[in-house]
Amino acid sequence: MIKKLKIPLAIALGVSLGSSLWIGHAVAANKTQHSIGSGSVDSKEIRWGSSTKYTANRDYAIKIWNALGKVKIAPDTATTIEDLTFKDVNLPDETFTAQWVPRIGADRIEFNTPKFNNSGRTTAAKNKTASHELGHALGIGDHYESNYSGLIMYGYSSSTTTLQAHDKTDYNANWKN
Ligand SMILES: [Zn+2]
Repeated sequence: MIKKLKIPLAIALGVSLGSSLWIGHAVAANKTQHSIGSGSVDSKEIRWGSSTKYTANRDYAIKIWNALGKVKIAPDTATTIEDLTFKDVNLPDETFTAQWVPRIGADRIEFNTPKFNNSGRTTAAKNKTASHELGHALGIGDHYESNYSGLIMYGYSSSTTTLQAHDKTDYNANWKN
């Protein structure tokens, strides 16, 4: 709950539903970025707060990334600095399904309810979206080439809900000791 000050990246990374395209807002179009820097990580931790109602999807994402062991993703406490806030927004005119937004203070993962919770979206799709956005908070960018099509961090729609070898390679490169 301690206030945090840092310089935000001038980008937000999101995903759109209708076109089946994952969209990185304000990032050079369709350019793979294995690393986008430190994301929301602070001293090898992401301390998170939450007001989202999509807690199961949030917790799925936290679980699969925490299993990699190098960055501790844990709830914010009275004595830690909140690095990331999970939040729901209601923006029917926006194209994004969810997005990671770097900010001064705590960054955000925003779930855009009209798109994220659109009828017909499966639990797997929601888990993948949440996991993808948390990947950005871990400093991993979108991937676009077809050889990356199975990744959580693939920049277009795909069906995986588990971290693939290259997702782990990028995580480990970003967070090597
Ligand atoms: Zn990569």
